[in-house]
Amino acid sequence: MSAAETYAEPTATTIYCPGCGQAMKVAPQHMQIAVNCPSCQKRIKPWRILAAERQAAPASPPQTPRTDGYSMRNRWVAGTLGVLLGPFGVHRFYMGFIGIGILQALITVLSLGILAPLVAVWAFIEGILCFCGVMRDVDGRLLNG
Ligand SMILES: [Zn+2]
Repeated sequence: MSAAETYAEPTATTIYCPGCGQAMKVAPQHMQIAVNCPSCQKRIKPWRILAAERQAAPASPPQTPRTDGYSMRNRWVAGTLGVLLGPFGVHRFYMGFIGIGILQALITVLSLGILAPLVAVWAFIEGILCFCGVMRDVDGRLLNG
């Protein structure tokens, strides 16, 4: 593509014929209609070719959460919070699970403490799992420490 061509058709889109590979420029008003390849006369649908190219193009790097490395959160801190303050969901807040933390605290508070032992057992088990290093934080990373 020369500078002159670019200047002459600044808004044209370059596509490549799927039949013969010939490059051709397609004006915007012709993008939505079929055109004939000037080289091999194959009938081409520019928008189809562009869609295919877009799919073939490497996608932006996927936003996968990091699975290497450990959480910034410490398993000993999380476990201690779970064992000591479990009925209030503090260890869950610490690990980033705000919803579960609120749920545990609400069960304790709304039951006026009647269900606190239940939540305590629940949190105690989670605290032990934290100590064992098998609990993950909200980002899916194993607790460190
Ligand atoms: Zn062609």
